[in-house]
Amino acid sequence: MKVPFLDLSLQHRALREQALAALTATYDATRFCLGKDVEDFENAFSKTLHYPATLAVNSGTSPLHLAATLAGWGPGDEVIAPPFTFISTVWGISYVGATPVFVDVEQDTFNLDPAKIEAAITPRTKGIIAVHLFGQPARMQEILAIARKHGLFVVEDCAQAAGAHYQGTPVGLLGDAGTFSFYPTKNLGGCGEGGAFVSRRDELFNKAKLLRVHGSGRRYYHDHVGFNFRMDGFQGALLSVKLPHLAGWTARRRAIAARYLEGIKLADTILPVAGRREGESVWHQFTLRHPRREALRAHLAACEVGTDLIYPVPLHRQACYAHLGYAEGSLPVAERACATVLSLPIFPELTDAQVEHVISAVNGFTG
Ligand SMILES: *Cc1c(COP(=O)(O)O)cnc(C)c1O
Repeated sequence: MKVPFLDLSLQHRALREQALAALTATYDATRFCLGKDVEDFENAFSKTLHYPATLAVNSGTSPLHLAATLAGWGPGDEVIAPPFTFISTVWGISYVGATPVFVDVEQDTFNLDPAKIEAAITPRTKGIIAVHLFGQPARMQEILAIARKHGLFVVEDCAQAAGAHYQGTPVGLLGDAGTFSFYPTKNLGGCGEGGAFVSRRDELFNKAKLLRVHGSGRRYYHDHVGFNFRMDGFQGALLSVKLPHLAGWTARRRAIAARYLEGIKLADTILPVAGRREGESVWHQFTLRHPRREALRAHLAACEVGTDLIYPVPLHRQACYAHLGYAEGSLPVAERACATVLSLPIFPELTDAQVEHVISAVNGFTG
């Protein structure tokens, strides 16, 4: 039985007629940049996921750039971030000329380890970017306490966690700013590029709104040096078609994760945590660790089970950050994760039979 790691065609086939009707309406109305379709999506996202307001933008990297700008970070400033994440998490820090300072992650969730943050704080530290990796919220209570103590600006990278809550609060509203990505492979994915910015701080949100469109609140009058981070009308229209399905997709991801957690019995395997009490994962990925990950991956491929290595190289060991001088072994938990992780298929359209096939394929590994 074939089980692809991810098959986006199933979701898009199911929504095809609705999606094409929405695109046609946008096309006929020539609402191409921002406009009603994007506003409707922003309002629906806010209402469905309980945000005071949502700013839709053109990628998941752009709101991280916005957040770094709004934080006022610049040359000479240091910003703490985890090394086990997608590179975009720290691009905003670099774009504004500040320096990422990598702090190791927790064994069990791959998220920023609060116990290791204070040792990395210097007089130059200005902020923290916490990532809710694979859909599992980071330990925000501890992170926020440290941030308050040191006066740090906190950004939550929610690119993989649309729909997740932490102690009853939607992710993105705990820190100063929250960012989302609607890249097609995300748990809420568009048909192209997209992202969003949220904040519990109105003044930050309002400034973000100006920065999104050339620093301008009034056409041809520019209060700030801004960006062009507008979302396309087509993307807003498509995301509005998809958003109502997010809760159902998340429920299905949770059911698959629960089945994997219960069914996988392979020796030497470290399974991901089932979601801490205060943070309920939306299971963007299901990522286990195994000391013979390459052999397990080959075995699963022979069983027609697709897998992925997310992520093979930690950020502090990327060529683009070689100048920061992190030696091999400097952040051992993240490095160990990169060497042992393997992500299994967990998209909502998987059938029960496919899920069972993945479990028996994993349990059948004898290498
Ligand atoms: C996808 C992703 C982003 C943003 O990516 P874009 O490709 O710009 O949408 C940022 N952070 C994390 C953790 C991501 O997974």
